[in-house]
Amino acid sequence: MHIVFAASECAPWAKTGGLADVVSALPRTLAKLGHKVSVFIPYYRQVAKAVPNPPVVLPSLTIPFPSYNRFVRVLNGGLDEGVQTYFIDCPELFDREGFYGTPSGDYPDNAERFGLLSRAVIEASKMIEIPDVYHVHDWQTAMLAVLLRSTYFFDPVFRHVPAVLTIHNAAYQGWFPPQTMEKLLLPWDMFTFDKLEHYDTVNFLKGGIVYADAITTVSRKYAEEIQTPEFGNGLEDILRKRSADLFGILNGVDYGEWNPATDPHIAAHYSAENLAGKKECRRDLLHAFGFEGVSDETAVIGVVSRFATQKGFDLIVEIMDKLVEEDVVLTILGTGEEYYERLLVEIANRYPSKVRVQVKFDNVIAHKIEAGADIFLMPSRYEPSGLSQIYSLKYGTIPVVRATGGLDDTIDEQPNSGGTGFKFSGYSPWALLDAIHRALNTFRNKKVWTEMMKRAMAQDFSWDKPAAEYVKVYERVIRNRS
Ligand code: ADP
Repeated sequence: MHIVFAASECAPWAKTGGLADVVSALPRTLAKLGHKVSVFIPYYRQVAKAVPNPPVVLPSLTIPFPSYNRFVRVLNGGLDEGVQTYFIDCPELFDREGFYGTPSGDYPDNAERFGLLSRAVIEASKMIEIPDVYHVHDWQTAMLAVLLRSTYFFDPVFRHVPAVLTIHNAAYQGWFPPQTMEKLLLPWDMFTFDKLEHYDTVNFLKGGIVYADAITTVSRKYAEEIQTPEFGNGLEDILRKRSADLFGILNGVDYGEWNPATDPHIAAHYSAENLAGKKECRRDLLHAFGFEGVSDETAVIGVVSRFATQKGFDLIVEIMDKLVEEDVVLTILGTGEEYYERLLVEIANRYPSKVRVQVKFDNVIAHKIEAGADIFLMPSRYEPSGLSQIYSLKYGTIPVVRATGGLDDTIDEQPNSGGTGFKFSGYSPWALLDAIHRALNTFRNKKVWTEMMKRAMAQDFSWDKPAAEYVKVYERVIRNRS
């Protein structure tokens, strides 16, 4: 089957988070399974720097707006591992510093930018090849699913073409003022609460949820959670209405990049059969953070994360005074909300022999933490899928996580430390501290700890299984629309 991905990010060209990894890895796995896959992303300034002057596939597509047209080019991003990438080139909208905005806020014309992206993918398909199914991602391309069933309703070539929407994070929905309906040439009768309207805004993600043939999200647990007020961010009712077409498919990870047996960024290689190299990685990590004379009995706790409330930093900050009383050191890497950047640096200054923080985005240090720490901390408030805890498993770095979303689906806590990690449910500092205490108690029993590491390292979260699940969803929506 021919699957067309339309997305706002794709690694390695344009990445701010997990979405880019999925849009890169899933198509490659689908291609390996024998499917034809094309991926469309915007030709952002950053993409143009990496791929200057790619061949032109379509020199001009007309994208209409109320009083003017925009003209976009489709560029050939290359065929790699069986996946054909196309770039949508519209310099007025995409040749900018950021993907979505500047540090002071989102671009004010994001509805036009991503509305155009969705429409350009549809128009390009008419020129290149009509796919069997579209796969759209988050609010940025959700509009494609809406357009297919509204503006393009009478186009016979799309009558049987379904769209699958994947929600990578339900908190970001793409809210725009009501006039957006006219701007995108959408009929006003769709501006109702059961369609695109949401508390007097046009809500792109909601539109996608209403009009897509199936909706997926990135873990089984998150699929349940977003149907509740706590996690649905106002979309829980509409998601519950679509529950028969809503599927949770856990993200896979790329073991080509994250594997302690082959990782080029770490001090020594190791595996479940031979763990000796992990000690060297631990020494290297402590050195990278400037710790000296840390005993083997001290637990090294690692954090790699966006500094955001979503990731549970309010809990981490709250337990810090108690945590430093334990035999632990903390190596923390991240960037994000200024509030947490400042607070964490302040804590590190207060406890220099216990806590060190590096405020930056650094892939090599991220690998060093995954390999060198004993315990990986990820107490997220919510976590649609989460990748870092899955990497930790592979590196035998035991995760302590909150039982939410993908964290709950990937980490297994069993009595007597018979699982692969430690997790807590209630969002409270005491519950987190209690889970860390359980981990530290187990850490002191080297035999049980080593068995746990080996169990963690044996877990397989590669893309093969999730890709096969996506194929089932594609087959289902194609069948339902034929
Ligand atoms: P999210 O997509 O919500 O940020 P995930 O756990 O799904 O969280 O993915 C985070 C990814 O970003 C991981 O690959 C992690 O290693 C990486 N990452 C996060 N912060 C940093 C950082 N400061 N430096 C390097 N890599 C980081």
